Amino acid sequence: MSSNPTYFNTVQELNDFLREVLIDNSILNTDRHLNCGQTKYISLKRSPTDKFLRSLKCEDLSCPPCRSDIVAKHIHKISDYISTQSDPPSRTLLITLTLSHSTQHPFKYLYDGIKSSISHMKNSYGWRKLKTDLKHRFHFDRIETKVSPHTGFNVHCHQVFGCDDNSISLTDLKPRIHSLWSKSLSHNKLRPVSPQYDVDIKEGDGFETYGLKQEQNQKMMESLKLKIEERFKPKRIKSTVMTKLSMSLRHEVSQMDYRSEDKRFKGNYKPENSITYSIGQLEGELMMYNLFPDYINPDFSREGIVKILKQIQETQRNHFYTKIYK
Ligand SMILES: [Zn+2]
Repeated sequence: MSSNPTYFNTVQELNDFLREVLIDNSILNTDRHLNCGQTKYISLKRSPTDKFLRSLKCEDLSCPPCRSDIVAKHIHKISDYISTQSDPPSRTLLITLTLSHSTQHPFKYLYDGIKSSISHMKNSYGWRKLKTDLKHRFHFDRIETKVSPHTGFNVHCHQVFGCDDNSISLTDLKPRIHSLWSKSLSHNKLRPVSPQYDVDIKEGDGFETYGLKQEQNQKMMESLKLKIEERFKPKRIKSTVMTKLSMSLRHEVSQMDYRSEDKRFKGNYKPENSITYSIGQLEGELMMYNLFPDYINPDFSREGIVKILKQIQETQRNHFYTKIYK
């Protein structure tokens, strides 16, 4: 039996490896992308003989190592801002705004649509009134994308809202936010959304950095390593009970990580309609296709994943990740 090759051992190594996979599939395809991660000697104009080593970055949100740096920077920026508040807001609201969508909707249509709807909503009288009523202190939000083989791009906005009012209940807030969101969607000619599933609001505990997360983390790195190891196992299953047990556990772990169920739909849709993949998971699946020519993902073909990630890269390349609104 051949020994397993080691492609990565840390999240950073995984991100670097994924960048190569994305370049190999022409999702990252400019000179800037190709040079990302290289180091180069740069000299200053005023003293050309002094050269210093600089690592080049493409700073594209679709480039795993660059995206990881961008997300980390924002997580630090927001936690620094929160820690400087001598009198932190007494209430944290976690608001999720989504779009109604199907596989017919291209990513750009939904992404541009959600961005214009958010800015339309924030410019409305109703939103300003809501901010005043809630004694708004600051908020930040972020657009997240998941992809389902059955319903296409699930583009949604996670908002973390810090305020000082504790008298307005979630039951009263939800219809207000739903009404504002619906007006903004209709202004942007997007489909209406249901108050039950497409607007969510709940109380958070403190601030930390809700809603900001890395596409690739330690758990995903380990899970991908397991998936790769599985491929190098001999096909014949050893007959000891322990081996069977550990294999089924491993299988469960990798399935669990790779086909996350959308909790919003639990109990309302058939489970096969609620499978969603994060961008990080799709990148991991593309890596599996790259490494193993006979690899099959039950939900997406290799071409399907490349098409999805290309649409996301082309749409998102010049957009920011998040910012604090005071
Ligand atoms: Zn990069």
